[in-house]
Amino acid sequence: MAKILDGKAVAARVRREIAADVEKLKAQGKNPCLAVVLVGENPASKVYVNNKKKGCAEVGIKSLEYLLPEETTEEELLSLVDKLNADDEVNGILVQLPLPKQISEQKVIERISPEKDVDCFHPYSAGKLFTGSPRFLPCTPAGIMELIRESGVEVAGKTCVVVGRSNIVGKPMAMLLMGANGTVTIAHSRTQDLKAVCKTADILVVAIGKAKFITADYVKEGAVVIDVGMDRDENGKLCGDVDFASVEPVCGAITPVPGGVGPMTITMLLKNTLRAVQD
Ligand code: NAP
Repeated sequence: MAKILDGKAVAARVRREIAADVEKLKAQGKNPCLAVVLVGENPASKVYVNNKKKGCAEVGIKSLEYLLPEETTEEELLSLVDKLNADDEVNGILVQLPLPKQISEQKVIERISPEKDVDCFHPYSAGKLFTGSPRFLPCTPAGIMELIRESGVEVAGKTCVVVGRSNIVGKPMAMLLMGANGTVTIAHSRTQDLKAVCKTADILVVAIGKAKFITADYVKEGAVVIDVGMDRDENGKLCGDVDFASVEPVCGAITPVPGGVGPMTITMLLKNTLRAVQD
């Protein structure tokens, strides 16, 4: 029986630690504050923004919400970012992606001050991570590192395979695993014989966005399997990139979807907001 890596429980524990640190900061007269910007009516984005607001409230971080209409221009959004960059009350800025098509996401990401880049998407933050001296940690990969710790498996010296090479998950994930002295392979849609590559992994992280794609024949016996995917199955039910029913009997530890990686991502955003005040 595989160990189920319960993201909700780990997130609750980390949030209690964050709340205690927020209390200490408040006692010193510092009041952590996150500005959350949502443009348009994307229903999934609304849910994420709401969860971020709730997360802030849970740990005592103040959140400011900016809801802009779908037709907001790039210039208008950039000028809001400038205003938040200059606002001493605001420690962290998060602009929820995706943005409407008239706005360049890259331009917006690059306009956020690296000092307030709690999502860790700015090229400066990526560069700091790449050179081994990150200030903020990328939220989803940092949450995954906590879950791997929970598995009891030491990363150092292990063979790690990350499937997916996005800027948000795959690439920074590989950096964190390498930083923890894992031997890391990044696989993607052009990888030949993905099954054989995945089967070498002591730690397998899957972030491809394909429902139940990874089955037992991709997984080494006893491996730690982290499922980042947030997909819908044929019945419209939320599921991951890993076929849990087939993989769970083979692996040593596995994250469920929902309740695995998801709850950790926002928790790490809260941790970055705290870090923005502490440093
Ligand atoms: P993305 O930007 O779409 O990237 C997907 C990656 O998967 C690409 O690198 C792609 O390869 C690779 N890929 C696609 N099909 C593949 C295949 N058949 N074999 C091997 N590699 C394949 O996705 P993302 O933003 O990283 O997100 C991935 C998944 O994680 C999605 O389901 C997303 O919803 C979820 N997610 C969850 C959280 C969370 O907090 N739980 C956070 C972020 C994302 P190429 O580069 O070659 O195209």
